[in-house]
Amino acid sequence: MPVLPSPIVEISDSMLSSHSVRLWLKRDDLIHPHISGNKWRKLKYNLEAAQRQGCHTLLTFGGAYSNHLAATAAAGREYGYQTVGIVRGERPAKLNPTLRFLLECGMELHFVSRSSYRNQGPDDWLQQLNLPVAGTCVLPEGGANCLALMGCAEIPAEVEEQLGFLPDVFFAACGTGATLAGIAAGLKGRSRAMGVSVLKGDFLRREVSALLQHCDEKTKNWEVLTEYHFGGYARFDDALIRFINRFRARQQVALDPVYTGKLMYAVFDQVQQGAFPEGSQILVLHSGGLQGIAGFNERFGGLIEV
Ligand SMILES: *Cc1c(COP(=O)(O)O)cnc(C)c1O
Repeated sequence: MPVLPSPIVEISDSMLSSHSVRLWLKRDDLIHPHISGNKWRKLKYNLEAAQRQGCHTLLTFGGAYSNHLAATAAAGREYGYQTVGIVRGERPAKLNPTLRFLLECGMELHFVSRSSYRNQGPDDWLQQLNLPVAGTCVLPEGGANCLALMGCAEIPAEVEEQLGFLPDVFFAACGTGATLAGIAAGLKGRSRAMGVSVLKGDFLRREVSALLQHCDEKTKNWEVLTEYHFGGYARFDDALIRFINRFRARQQVALDPVYTGKLMYAVFDQVQQGAFPEGSQILVLHSGGLQGIAGFNERFGGLIEV
């Protein structure tokens, strides 16, 4: 059973108190051991829709370390759906921990070239894999659709109920931007949603705008910080790794190097730069992603302390 509302903990640190800001961490990583963080939020209404539509199979997409594939595979196992994962790139000779987990959950994997991953649409895949259109629900990469926004839009009210007030700023890591868009929608014009892009470039601003518009949400109280990608998706440097390990040692909270590590680094850096006035109340969403640490450590030699 999911742990909801997910706990909120206050993060104490001399740097934060010296700038007179308070910071709370919404522990969505604790919602479910395998359907973790924002992936649980994004799947919630998609799974409801799958049930309503009588789907027996979930088809979705992701990279070889994808938190979305892991969450979808686990959800399939728990709620009784067949799951099919289209994985970007060649099948590696030795499967990483994420891929092994997908297989353990019973997900059927298809490794496809980067070009067909990019160029084929959902209908092409259904046809190619001989999946019935009627019983198969297709979830986009990262689960980013309007039902996902709906799930994430529940976060602000949940936080307000738990804390008894609405923090001034909500921070979230951005991959597709659906989580940020959902939080912004849920804020309904109050406070502010700030996204930290883990990808290089500023296209996320357009993507979040497009998503909000597509889902008929008019909110404008959000922005995306684009300077904390550390070289791009799944790239990192020593400073980031040190920050993650120190945060874990001091706060007893694990962060992953792909999303939440960059997010928290950005929040601390922004506070340090004086981006928030005295008395500011900041809420950071721990969006999960901790399953990725094992694969990261296997690949890069145990950099993240566990
Ligand atoms: C997928 C993921 C994100 C990105 O969420 P989007 O809605 O795609 O922006 C952020 N954090 C973690 C831990 C994730 O797994």
